[in-house]
Amino acid sequence: MNILIVEDEIALRDGLVDLLTAAGHSVEVVGDGVTAAKRALEPAFQLILLDVMLPKLDGIEVCRRVRKTRPGLPILMLTAKGSEEDKVRGLKVGADDYVTKPFGARELLARVEAVARRAQVVPAEPEVVVVDDCRFDLGRCEAVRGRTIIALSPRETGIVRWLYRHRARAVTRAELLEQIWGVRSDTETRTVDVTIANLRQKIERDPAEPKVIRSVKGVGYAWGEP
Ligand code: CA
Repeated sequence: MNILIVEDEIALRDGLVDLLTAAGHSVEVVGDGVTAAKRALEPAFQLILLDVMLPKLDGIEVCRRVRKTRPGLPILMLTAKGSEEDKVRGLKVGADDYVTKPFGARELLARVEAVARRAQVVPAEPEVVVVDDCRFDLGRCEAVRGRTIIALSPRETGIVRWLYRHRARAVTRAELLEQIWGVRSDTETRTVDVTIANLRQKIERDPAEPKVIRSVKGVGYAWGEP
């Protein structure tokens, strides 16, 4: 599963990353409630592990907000020992379950799996995406604009998929390099620009005014309409 971990205590967060990664999950971490409420809306996440005590916005409020938009997303709260009130508040705003800190590795994994199982209908990431009248079939590495079928390379497909999955925010060049090329570098970002320029020639109605892959000044790229 693709899990969003929301926890501000670094030691605990690192422990959760190790544990869930070792169990075969892919994870991303955020450390405050405001960022969590935004990122949780990304369809790629299939479960949220949500601490209650967080900077900026507490986990209860994050849960309440996320529930409005993603009613089916499994949310597992992390509550402090003995805080009966947190548990009740969490469950009231729609958390699926809670784990009390400190918790054992096996207990946590069991809870994660149980919550995911109960939720079952995790919305699948669509592989057909339409933007600005361009229809992408990512499973087939192609796009269709009008009557033209455009073949995409696996790398181009990867870029489209990554931008679409993270469409709630802009994506940096370094992030694309790392995720699509598997390269960690802040200096080879020109590679990304060249690839995206070529991709725009293929898929945009007017490559000079891109509507599918937007440039975000000072950040990188973003999907579709702002
Ligand atoms: Ca905390």
